[in-house]
Amino acid sequence: MSDVTEKIISLAKRRGFVYPNSEIYGGLQGFYDFGPLGVEMKINIKRLWWENMTRSHDNVVGIDGAIITHPSVWEASGHIKSFTDPMSQCNNCHKRFKTEDLDTETCPSCSGILALPKAFNILVKTEIGTIEGEKTTTFLRGEACQNIYLDYQNVLDSLHLKIPFGIVQIGKAFRNEITPKNFLFRQREFEQWDLQWFTHPSQSAHWFTYWLEDRVSWYKSLFQNPDRIRLKQHENLAHYAKNAVDIEYETPFGYKEMEGVHHRGDWDLGRHSEFSGKDLSYIDPISKERFLPHIIETSGGVDRTFFFLLLDAYHEEKDRVVLKLKPQISPIKVAVFPLLSNKPELVKKAEEIFRMLRPSVKTAFDDRGNIGKRYYSQDEIGTPWCVTVDFTTLEDDTVTVRERDDGSQIRVATISLKDYILSRLSLT
Ligand code: ATP
Repeated sequence: MSDVTEKIISLAKRRGFVYPNSEIYGGLQGFYDFGPLGVEMKINIKRLWWENMTRSHDNVVGIDGAIITHPSVWEASGHIKSFTDPMSQCNNCHKRFKTEDLDTETCPSCSGILALPKAFNILVKTEIGTIEGEKTTTFLRGEACQNIYLDYQNVLDSLHLKIPFGIVQIGKAFRNEITPKNFLFRQREFEQWDLQWFTHPSQSAHWFTYWLEDRVSWYKSLFQNPDRIRLKQHENLAHYAKNAVDIEYETPFGYKEMEGVHHRGDWDLGRHSEFSGKDLSYIDPISKERFLPHIIETSGGVDRTFFFLLLDAYHEEKDRVVLKLKPQISPIKVAVFPLLSNKPELVKKAEEIFRMLRPSVKTAFDDRGNIGKRYYSQDEIGTPWCVTVDFTTLEDDTVTVRERDDGSQIRVATISLKDYILSRLSLT
């Protein structure tokens, strides 16, 4: 694992972004928990995605579907037959490897001989019902988007939407990945953000280009180094797909997929019509034409984006580590300090300012150690602004606001501090 990746994993744990799941029991491979700072940052990026999707585009609405669905869904989707990863097992040490990850013909662990690859289905099975022997076997969803196809007709009926329109969802997905690795990059439980855009077949190529460009520019707006984002055209398309392009980020372990933009044709609604016996075709209210809409999908990983944003933001400078996250993404926006923690009048004033800001923006209070240590601590978690209450504050009711990225400081009147922070935040 690369040096920077190791540093991010360690910082993420130490500062409360991401913890290994079930650590006191030795951990569970491929599962992570988000800590107090991680959950704030994750909510921020999910909110940015949701707002962008549902408020900056016409005709996009959301759902929040269940993790477990009827087992036939996974027959119809093709996951039971073909959601497989070829795996190679070593005849000597019996370790298993994802065949596509191998760059040698022998076992990377012991150099033993590898058996011929076998296919493993990566859906996660579960059972519902209480009586042994009468339980129904189903699956935790292998991809979140299936709920959107299942609810497509209901959404259409509830809201009388006209094609083209989109349904979005953010939700968990589960895959028995053979080799979970690279921290949040390949997990067994993860979160996806999906748009399924329903269009007339004659318009689908146009919408594919539209959504691809839209999604790339959205990702570029989040990252400090947009030049690390690139597109990768799929050469080998799934048999039903008409086009597929990955949006990739340049990580220390190579360019990796962050989101897939797919032209899925009428495969999904066609299959669900066939397997459920319900006709999911659409009737144009004006021309009365009946057709199965084509689907353009944008399916991205919340956790991968989260991880790549940490990699993107991480900077080591002479005497500090700083996460140069865009302020809208930072878990904490402002930290308030009294210059000295043993001066009650400074502490009291700093607490007042903390309580004034807290309902509007995520604010921290710190009176430990000296000012230098507090700046260090906030820089390391990406807090864009630090506010210090000093003796001048007690005279003229102004505070020092210090910028994370260049360390510059200005004085701001306490009375206008909240508006100052909110206006800076809205510009990022
Ligand atoms: P990969 O080829 O890396 O396995 P995929 O093509 O199977 O990914 P999709 O099925 O298109 O991925 O899922 C959409 C998005 O979900 C991906 O772009 C990725 O961001 C995220 N994702 C997929 N698998 C995982 C995983 N195991 N852990 C974390 N995120 C994942």
